[in-house]
Amino acid sequence: MAHNLQSVLLFGQPGVGKGTQGEIIGSIPGFVHLATGDMFRGLDRDSELGQEFIKYSSQGLLVPDELTCRLWQQYVQGLIDTNQYRPNSDVLLLDGIPRSVAQAELLDSHIDVLRIIHLVCPDTDALVERMKKRADKQGRPDDADEDVIRRRLQVYHDETQPVLAHYDPSTVVEIDAIGLPGEILQKILNSIIPVARDVIQNPLG
Ligand code: AMP
Repeated sequence: MAHNLQSVLLFGQPGVGKGTQGEIIGSIPGFVHLATGDMFRGLDRDSELGQEFIKYSSQGLLVPDELTCRLWQQYVQGLIDTNQYRPNSDVLLLDGIPRSVAQAELLDSHIDVLRIIHLVCPDTDALVERMKKRADKQGRPDDADEDVIRRRLQVYHDETQPVLAHYDPSTVVEIDAIGLPGEILQKILNSIIPVARDVIQNPLG
């Protein structure tokens, strides 16, 4: 498995808009978007792994760390093998991982974190509404149930929020997640292009 993958983390509560922004930025040459939620939802539901995912996600819980990181490594390797991700000249935009301190530690030997974009929305009720609305559209049955959503937000608070303290505070940029998607995009790009430029323009190795 390659190491020192030059990465930007999209960080923030469920429903805050990481996926929307990640997809747009991932369409820009030099950026590759990898959302672990999409990775899991892409598993065959009848497979053992697919069943394992449903077991946890349907309760609003995280899939165990070891399994998540092993799958993530295989997935990244698949992107490399199929030339969808070129570690020497692309920046990896990680959305939804690491989601626990243990995952951050497991990823330390694989990624260099150039920037952490922390999307912030203090209005939890607005997030809940947004997640309910997208549940059908995006095939996320777990988000149709308000109790599961509330559990997801609690898990974020208990297990994911502490991940920020694992990284150098100077890499973290807080961005207000309320506003026009275009405006939020502009702010994110302003803070990641300066750190991504070297990777994209001067391929490593
Ligand atoms: P998301 O689409 O990012 O909200 O993820 C949907 C579900 O996938 C989560 O509720 C978790 O069950 C699982 N999941 C996604 N990313 C991770 C991760 N890094 N660690 C553990 N579970 C994850």
